[in-house]
Amino acid sequence: MLNSNFPGASLILEPIPVLTTLIYRSQLHLSCRSAELSALVERARSRNAKLNITGVLLSNGCDVLQILEGAEESVVKLFHKIRDDERHSGVVELMRDYGPRRRFDNVGMLLFDLQVQSPKEVLESVLHYSQLESYLISDDRVFKFIQTFITGKHTGQTRSPVDAGKWTLACEKAPFGQAMGLIAGQICQFALQPIVEPSEGKISSLEALIRGNDGGSPEHFFKTLDQDKLYEVDLQTKAYAFALAEKLGIGSHKIAVNLLPMSLVKVPGAVEFLVEQIRQHGLQPEQVVIEVTENEMISGFNKFNSAIKQLRGEGIGLAIDDFGSGYAGLSLLTRFQPDKIKIDREIVSNIHLSGPKQAIVRSIVSCCTDLEITLVAEGIEKLEEWCWLESAGIRRFQGFLFARPQLNGVGDIHWPHLVR
Ligand code: C2E
Ligand code: MN
Ligand code: MN
Repeated sequence: MLNSNFPGASLILEPIPVLTTLIYRSQLHLSCRSAELSALVERARSRNAKLNITGVLLSNGCDVLQILEGAEESVVKLFHKIRDDERHSGVVELMRDYGPRRRFDNVGMLLFDLQVQSPKEVLESVLHYSQLESYLISDDRVFKFIQTFITGKHTGQTRSPVDAGKWTLACEKAPFGQAMGLIAGQICQFALQPIVEPSEGKISSLEALIRGNDGGSPEHFFKTLDQDKLYEVDLQTKAYAFALAEKLGIGSHKIAVNLLPMSLVKVPGAVEFLVEQIRQHGLQPEQVVIEVTENEMISGFNKFNSAIKQLRGEGIGLAIDDFGSGYAGLSLLTRFQPDKIKIDREIVSNIHLSGPKQAIVRSIVSCCTDLEITLVAEGIEKLEEWCWLESAGIRRFQGFLFARPQLNGVGDIHWPHLVR
């Protein structure tokens, strides 16, 4: 039994807020740069003092790097205000971390202007105001961000953001016929979603997404199946996707279908079946891409390897789907290089706001450029996401922004155009 008179009994209530450090970079739009900058920081200083937020703001006249330290709730709230502030554009969160104490204490918000001080002077005074022991500084990520900004080595990160506001979308009918009804006895249907290359105004392929006869999701459709038949059904239903492509008259466009890799391993004669169906529906093997997800691929890699060889031997393309969402990531490419990689929606969503996501996508782009692997970014919902990804060198996109999946057909496509 706890004695309620015990002095510690009522103490353990409020968790002590952990000190949070948030770093972002942005472009500041000020007409008279140096003077306005100090006025802005002066106003921020009193506001930050009330919120008990301290830190530094570095500027080179155009780009800004700010370090905010304080209780997480206050820091995040302030950061959201900054993101909505019209004077800032291209606000990107670079780091959010937690620590035992502030790096800059009792200083409010320090301003360092690289227009009036040399990089060397700025670095010296940043170090002068810092509370961190000097032996800790060389390994501290915050100081590394500061140093990189001061020395101007961050240019790769601040490639001028393409202004999403300059673009608008124009709706166009897809150049395909209408599909008529389902084949008798068809146990499921497909929705098609285009993968587009907006810079060329081209449709690069159509992805066939499985749907139940009630229109239900792939997940729901696969749940209704006898699980012993899963791989067989997954493989056999691809025949409906090819039939749909034939009915719509996709011409020389490509069609991508999803498959569990085990459907190629466990069903005898799987690749022969696909090749036969492809030919029967008037398609060429080179027009077909099989998409498999990263995780599925890793778990059965050795068995799957011979199926891959067989597929490639027939001329069928292979894409890794949902790249970056699984365990393997780039290391997968040491074992095997596909023709195409589709970057997972999770990494792409709000990429214009996230430094870590940008760094990861840049490394994927660089790797796939070296290996001549075509990249597709999937799940694009915002013009800002597309603009950032284009500027990082990605040319092919799939997402609701451009076209939604349409049952038994191809829906309208929304192409980006520059606003006049
Ligand atoms: P997936 O291959 O990555 O397909 C893309 C999924 O993202 C589709 O969901 C599509 O509707 C959705 N999507 C596309 N653009 C956007 C967007 O801008 N925003 C959002 N929020 N979602 C978007 P769906 O059709 O529900 O398919 C889910 C997954 O089911 C597919 O992911 C694929 O892995 C699997 N799947 C689909 N068809 C088959 C199939 O025939 N066989 C197998 N084994 N799996 C399939
Ligand atoms: Mn897919
Ligand atoms: Mn995917």
